[in-house]
Amino acid sequence: VRRNPAEPNFHQAVHEVVESVMPLIASTQRYRDASVLERMTEPDRIITFRVTWMDDAGNVRANRAWRVQFNNSIGPYKGGLRFHKDVDLDTLKFLGFEQTFKNSLTGLPMGGAKGGSNFNPKGKSDAEVMRFCHAMMTELQRHIGEDTDVPAGDIGVGGRELGYLFGQYKRLNNRFAGVMTGKGLSFGGSAGRKEATGHGAVYFLREILQHRGESLENKTALVSGSGNVALYAIEKLDELGCKALTASDSSGFIYDRDGISGEKLEFLKDLKEVRRGRIHEYADAFGCEFHAKKRPWAVKADFALPCATQNEINESDAQHLVKNGIHALVEGANMPTTAEGVLTLQNGGVIFGPAKAANAGGVAVSGLEQSQNALRIAWSREEVDTRLKTIMADIHHKCLTHSQEVHGDIDYVKGANLAGFVKVADAMVAYGAI
Ligand code: NDP
Repeated sequence: VRRNPAEPNFHQAVHEVVESVMPLIASTQRYRDASVLERMTEPDRIITFRVTWMDDAGNVRANRAWRVQFNNSIGPYKGGLRFHKDVDLDTLKFLGFEQTFKNSLTGLPMGGAKGGSNFNPKGKSDAEVMRFCHAMMTELQRHIGEDTDVPAGDIGVGGRELGYLFGQYKRLNNRFAGVMTGKGLSFGGSAGRKEATGHGAVYFLREILQHRGESLENKTALVSGSGNVALYAIEKLDELGCKALTASDSSGFIYDRDGISGEKLEFLKDLKEVRRGRIHEYADAFGCEFHAKKRPWAVKADFALPCATQNEINESDAQHLVKNGIHALVEGANMPTTAEGVLTLQNGGVIFGPAKAANAGGVAVSGLEQSQNALRIAWSREEVDTRLKTIMADIHHKCLTHSQEVHGDIDYVKGANLAGFVKVADAMVAYGAI
């Protein structure tokens, strides 16, 4: 806390990992000799810069941006860019730290990073977003590269923003390379990348259930968010026979007892991906409930998939979920559950699938996009989907075996932290004191 004051999100993320890996470090001399944990909790490098751009009224505006290159022990830095008014260094350090373990879990050669800006895309015109993205890349381009650091999207950074960012990279460097992922399909993007995080989270939930001889069929789920992760989690739940009852944005949530599917899901995708409208428009169109300024966790269902943002499930939300007999919670967003929330859920008998494992499908397909770019080929949607399913099943297996080996029971939080940690730690030991 003294070394990183005023960084509560970063502390929260580190605390959880340390708790999981301590027994392993205590029994492994080489990790202690190499001070692996001390090194892992310090980012390799933090780049901070100003982004100056002009709004539609001709005013010159300035934002702050960062790239936190956390750890490249097992591959080039990899992680998304976030545009949100609340972005600060604390948020990006927690995300970069988490990303290091998540990327390790995928089994692909990717290090951990995160970046973004306190630029608020809400209410900005396309032209303003374009000018901001071009200005941001003008600085960022000198710090990234396909073998150095490969950014992608996150909150507030989707297909539109990635297009503007990649276009500016290409213009400034006069080279077309796989330096970003999440690109459009016509310029080096991978089939299935947009859907990968949401679909992957549902595949992870299916693995959890299959391991217990259960299934998603004829069940119900609560989903929060209505962005990239939420929309495609809802799509896959629907495809596998589980009704998503809710979706939300920062203005509140909608509750559709019949489930969000078919033309209603298409409406929601158009509303959020194309028209950039607010969630109450879904309730207006289909005559279902809209709860302003509320989160969906008091609704009764079999599963919960928080897919919006960090710390959106606190202790009291978790108590509601336990009281309503939620069977499993799988994190589509990064760290959506507070530490107290996780404890309440686990003590209440809820199966808990942590973000590092459950939402790793997005970065996994980003890794596949890098491979396709390097080989100058494009795999079909089916091929990418098959690989995504295999990766999610493999992550599930790693979580189980690592938690059972060290802690003697099934705990997906501990399993994910341990499995992610070991690969990075072994590489750091091999490099010596650097
Ligand atoms: P989007 O920007 O596409 O969507 C974010 C959604 O969450 C929107 O519905 C947004 O509502 C809502 N939201 C954001 N901030 C808040 C807030 N403070 N309070 C309430 N609602 C909020 O982002 P993504 O879907 O890409 O990302 C969602 C989460 O998933 C994040 O935690 C991200 O880090 C994580 N993630 C994303 C991956 C990806 O591939 N995109 C990969 C792995 C993890 P509104 O529009 O009103 O702000």
